[in-house]
Amino acid sequence: MELSRELLTAEMIDPGTGEPARTTIEVRRDPLTGHSSRILPERGLMSASDFDLEAFARKSQPSCPFCPGQVDQVTPKLAATIHPDGRITRGEAVLFANLHAYSSHSSVSVYSPRLHYLPVGEITRRLLNDNLATQVAFAQAVMAADPPSRWASINANHMLPSGSSLFHPHMQGIVDSQPTTMQRLLADVPAQRFDDYLDTERRLGERYLGNTGRFEWIASFAPIAPAELRAFATGISSPAELDGELVGELAHGLALALGAYAEMGFQSFNCAIYGAPPATEGYPLNLRLACRSNLKAFYRSDSTFLERLHWEGAVDVVPEIVARRIGDRFRR
Ligand SMILES: [Zn+2]
Repeated sequence: MELSRELLTAEMIDPGTGEPARTTIEVRRDPLTGHSSRILPERGLMSASDFDLEAFARKSQPSCPFCPGQVDQVTPKLAATIHPDGRITRGEAVLFANLHAYSSHSSVSVYSPRLHYLPVGEITRRLLNDNLATQVAFAQAVMAADPPSRWASINANHMLPSGSSLFHPHMQGIVDSQPTTMQRLLADVPAQRFDDYLDTERRLGERYLGNTGRFEWIASFAPIAPAELRAFATGISSPAELDGELVGELAHGLALALGAYAEMGFQSFNCAIYGAPPATEGYPLNLRLACRSNLKAFYRSDSTFLERLHWEGAVDVVPEIVARRIGDRFRR
C-alpha cells in the first residue's frame, strides 16, 4: 500500500526582514476512509497543561452528580429490560443511563464514584479494565434485549475541552440501530484494506507502536486530532464480543498510551472504540485515541473550521514524533 502524501509550500514576506520566507505543509490521506490531514510545522499549538486541575476538582465536587452519595440518587437507571438492577458495576466502576441520550441506548460509566479527580496519568489499567467491562456488559445486554441495536461504540470525553460537560471522569457507550458517520465509513472499508494498512505500518515501522496480543497499535498516518493513535484487533468486530482477557489487554494498551499523553503534558483526550455489528466478516474492532487542548481560561480549541466543517485534520504534532515518544512503552 502506498501511503499518500503531498508537500505544499507557502511563501510569504517575513515582516521582520522583508525577505521571502517559506513554510512546508504536508497533506496526507488516511488509507482507510480517505480523510485528509495537514501536518504543520511545530507551532506550539498544543501547549502542556499548567492548569490547577486539583483546585478545579475541589470547586466542582460539591455539585457533582457522579460522586459518592449522589450517583445512586440522581443518575438515571437503565430500563429493566436491559438490566434488572438499573446499573452495571465492575470493581469500582458504575454504569448508568445517560441523562442526555444520543441514541436509543446511551450510557455513562464512571471509573469510580470516589475518583472525581483523576488526572490522565493516574488512569490505571485496573480502572480502565473495570470501566470497559461495564460498557461491554451494557452492549451485550442491549443487543440481547433489542436485537436491531447492533452498532456499539465505547467512547470518552475526558475533561471539558474534549466535550465533557461534567468534570468527573467517565466513559460513554452508544448502542444503536444507526451507525455514526465514522462507524459507517469504517464498516464500508474492504477487509483487505485494513490488512494492507497494518502490513504497511508494520513494515515501515516509523508509526508502528506494537502489539499487546490481539491489538496492534499505531500512530495515525493522517490524524484527525493531535497525537492520534489507532488500535486494531482482527477477528472481532464489536465491543460486545470482547471477553475478559481482551478487555484486560485493551485496558493495558490504553493505560500505556494515556501514561505517555500525561508525560507529554496532555490532560484532555477523546477516545472512540468503533464497533460494527457483531460477527461482521473482515472488520477489525478498532479505536481512535487523541489529545485535546488542555483546560485553561481562554484556551485555544484544537478543533477549528478545518476539523469541524472541512473534516480535515490540521496538527502540528508530527505522527512519527508521537510514535517515538510512545512506542517504547509498548515494546518494553
Ligand atoms: Zn464527582
